Amino acid sequence: MGNKKSSFLLSVLAGLVIVVITAIGFANMLHRPGIQGFRSHPIMPKDPALPAILTLEGVRLETPRDAEFILSSKAIGDEVVYELRKPAGVETVRARLVRYYEVALPLFLAIGVVGFLIGFLVIILKPDDPQVRIFYWATISFSAAVIISGDLYSVRGGGLSLVPGVLLDFAYPLAPALLWRFTRTFTGRPRETWFRYFMALPVVFGVLLSSGFLYSQLKPSLEAFRLTVRYFPIFRAYVAFTCLAAIVEMVRVFRKSESEKVRAQIKWIFFGLVVGLTPFIVLYQLPQVIGGAGSELMSEDMSSVFLIFIPACIALAILRHRLMNIDLVINRSLVYSFLTVFMVGVYLLTVELLRTLFVRTALVGQNAVSIGAAVLAAAVFQPARRRIQGAVDKTFFRQGYDYQKTVMNFNARAQKIMDPEHMASQFDEAVAEVMPLAKLGVAVCEPTGEGPRFTLLKGIEEKAAWAFLSLTGKPDVAWVRRESVATVEAVDFTAQGLLGSLGWEAVMLLPFGSGALAGCAALGRKKSGQRFTREDLDLVETLAGELALGLQRIRLQEEIFTERASREKADELSRLKTEFISSVSHELRTPMASLQSLSELLGSGKVQDEAKRGRLLQLMAGECGRLSRFVHNVLDFAKIEKDTKLYDLRTADLQPLVREVVDLCRLGTAAEGFKIGAEMPEGPVPLEADHDAVRQALLNLMDNAIKYSAEQKEITVRLVPGSESVEIQVEDHGIGIGPEDRERIFDAFFRAPSAARRNPKGVGLGLMIVKHIMDAHGGRIGLKSELGTGTTFSLIFPLRR
Ligand code: ADP
Repeated sequence: MGNKKSSFLLSVLAGLVIVVITAIGFANMLHRPGIQGFRSHPIMPKDPALPAILTLEGVRLETPRDAEFILSSKAIGDEVVYELRKPAGVETVRARLVRYYEVALPLFLAIGVVGFLIGFLVIILKPDDPQVRIFYWATISFSAAVIISGDLYSVRGGGLSLVPGVLLDFAYPLAPALLWRFTRTFTGRPRETWFRYFMALPVVFGVLLSSGFLYSQLKPSLEAFRLTVRYFPIFRAYVAFTCLAAIVEMVRVFRKSESEKVRAQIKWIFFGLVVGLTPFIVLYQLPQVIGGAGSELMSEDMSSVFLIFIPACIALAILRHRLMNIDLVINRSLVYSFLTVFMVGVYLLTVELLRTLFVRTALVGQNAVSIGAAVLAAAVFQPARRRIQGAVDKTFFRQGYDYQKTVMNFNARAQKIMDPEHMASQFDEAVAEVMPLAKLGVAVCEPTGEGPRFTLLKGIEEKAAWAFLSLTGKPDVAWVRRESVATVEAVDFTAQGLLGSLGWEAVMLLPFGSGALAGCAALGRKKSGQRFTREDLDLVETLAGELALGLQRIRLQEEIFTERASREKADELSRLKTEFISSVSHELRTPMASLQSLSELLGSGKVQDEAKRGRLLQLMAGECGRLSRFVHNVLDFAKIEKDTKLYDLRTADLQPLVREVVDLCRLGTAAEGFKIGAEMPEGPVPLEADHDAVRQALLNLMDNAIKYSAEQKEITVRLVPGSESVEIQVEDHGIGIGPEDRERIFDAFFRAPSAARRNPKGVGLGLMIVKHIMDAHGGRIGLKSELGTGTTFSLIFPLRR
């Protein structure tokens, strides 16, 4: 931050130094001497019929610029000797030098001063904007170049008076280059390498021009001066090229830009450049590049007059179209005061003119004439004043706004907005576009059970918004302060005191109708210093109405979204429920069917062999176990959903628990050919846990390992005690779990499609319950799996100290 500030101060300081040097240069120019009678046509005209100067102070002139060099060491009033060629013959003349400039100089000064003012104004208003920085340096160098306008005519004052000349030699080449650079900021891609190299060119020219200037002056050497003059067309070509490039760039930007605002800004810059530069380039610079010195079609003074269009048009672009986003509003009463003084002057002049006219021509008495003249002038004065005021308004102020266009533009933009905050800033922008205000506030609130709650508060404090929202009065009527409006129509002055104490000028409620929203828009002072007209209030009220509509639309859309989301959730739930019922019935039907057939077989008495009967009973016990585990899981799920599942923590040895589960599973799967290995440590493995829950978790893992085993029916259970935690691992060599399913297998009812195909038994609750159990113990589940190779689940319990 500090860096930015100091670089800003440095820029302004450097600019001020340049202004001082420019002022010295201008003072020097005032003393530029000229030869009487040769101001309006060149010293060596091409037309042989005109008088021409052949030698000056004994030096034979080769180009008109030789004379400039010789005269630069003289002062006004000095005597010079020159040979004059006339149709009658050559004659030697002795004459005193006169002031060279008559009209052009004040004009250059005016152009430059306006340029300097714009430059400083802009950098002070927007010191951090890079585009503004470039613009600043462009205007500073342009203004310095225009005011100094010649590097000679300064030598008499000694060394220090050479400084303006050197400044000019740098400012002149830099101005068009910076102008081009500025126009390139609009395209947003001004950082091409070739352009950076190009920007070195003005510096090179500056070095060449100033060293030529210094050498020829200090020596002094006419030869050196002639050399610089000989190569000067190269520089002129550079200037012409760069200015044209800037104009072309503007055309390109204009055609590319889609924003109407940018287009309006560019139109003005373009207009300024074309009108300002064309005479200078086409009539002055280019002819000299082609035909040499003296071939210009228009004098430098005349062609420079047009340069005033550049700063003027840019100033207009800033005032009317916020060029470079500069929000500058001239206080209108100030302009009107100037205007009135000017008009009164014109009025008095007119009266005087008419009076003399009447007195000369008419025979009526003096008094009658004066009155008549005054009446006549007044008749013209009033409408003229109104006209001029209107014209000034149109030119300088963003008033006379197109009501419909403003509203339509806002509408078009508002339609795409989904965020209330953004909507409010669009409103702010729309108002600022036509009526710059010191501040603008928007507040929207939603009355809830516990009282209203602000959903949007922009540019206004809650306290003020509260106060405004509690105002009651007729709808569609704005509360205003009497002194800030120029209307009494449809306004309410009853809240004057409140508005004044809170620092606002006007407030209107946002017309939300009977909806669930309430809100207000508050207006601060107009930057122009003018009062709000009925038209102004109408426009803001209309925009506020559109804003309210937009905000309501956003709210509705949001409601629809949440409603749709909850409906989707309900649909998903009912789908899961259906799926669950069908899997439950499946899950129940299979063991029940096998229980039924087994019990029938045993009941029939056909199986006599004790060992066989034992096996059948074992099978039945296995099926019963599976059934009970399933019911257990479903009940647990219900408890988890209702958040009523409780755990009973107790410290006990894990060894017997794991053994029991392994035995149970061995028993249940022996018939299918499973090999279930157990790797256990030597001593007891105590753990503080709900051992019933741990058993259930391990059984669920074992069930899965059995269900999802493929050809290799081998399962290993390990109990691994550690210093920080205890792990129970279940490793299988089954189908494995794909990476895409690893997260979701812990969700209720989720089953990987491949797993469901492989084994229809299952409802997708097992792992979800395992996860819940592990979470309740502060533990976690480890999972290592590879598709087609196998899976290892680990129950990892932390050891509490
Ligand atoms: P269920 O086994 O009833 O489908 P679970 O919650 O126990 O439900 O398991 C969820 C899913 O995780 C299973 O459908 C399966 O896709 C996958 N899964 C669980 N354990 C294994 C395993 N050992 N091998 C391969 N896939 C498994």
